[in-house]
Amino acid sequence: MIIVLLGPPGAGKGTQGERLALRLGLPKIATGDVLRGAVKAGTPLGLEAKAFMDRGDLVPDAVILGIMKEALNAPENARGAILDGVVRTVPQAEGLQAALAELGKPLGAVLNFDIADGEIVSRISGRTVCDACQVPYSGKVPGDECEKHDGGRLVRRKDDEPEAVQRRLDVYRAQTAPVLTWYTAAGAPVKTIDAVGTLEQVEARALAALGR
Ligand code: AMP
Repeated sequence: MIIVLLGPPGAGKGTQGERLALRLGLPKIATGDVLRGAVKAGTPLGLEAKAFMDRGDLVPDAVILGIMKEALNAPENARGAILDGVVRTVPQAEGLQAALAELGKPLGAVLNFDIADGEIVSRISGRTVCDACQVPYSGKVPGDECEKHDGGRLVRRKDDEPEAVQRRLDVYRAQTAPVLTWYTAAGAPVKTIDAVGTLEQVEARALAALGR
């Protein structure tokens, strides 16, 4: 089953995506993680993506479509996957639709995380991520050890600085919000959930929306 997670930055897609992946026994694919890994490794993909990411802009569709297709064709994702932040523009939604049609895989659900802007800004300003496994944390400070004990340290993402956050919100409104309209018009199984609450509450809402 393919599940698309939609929602603004800071809505909890990454955290809930991890939880859903465990619950549903599906892998999670996050283009943001793939891109950060490429930046860290200094690959051509990383070199191309870095400036866009640091500014809070979207990486070009062609780059994302390449990552998306490679991931969908990978044997470990044959049963399906949870797509976290993978679809952020209408051309990307169209590209995913075409790729799924080619593979004969249905779109299981589009899970839309609903959250107000004020809540996003306060969440992101308190966010750190592990520089090894990318898991996000709130209530910890840069330099803390990752709870997964993978040797990673918590860092603040460059695009979590206030200017980039504002840019990412603007980009979300201009380019990603229309994706929700597009999926709705296409008759896709869109489920909107309230993304404000404890981790457990939001997870329960997500599972209920998915009929679990
Ligand atoms: P995220 O970790 O999902 O917040 O993504 C971090 C950054 O990676 C975004 O702000 C974009 O610059 C880039 N990115 C990740 N996924 C996409 C996508 N589907 N389309 C375009 N840019 C993306």
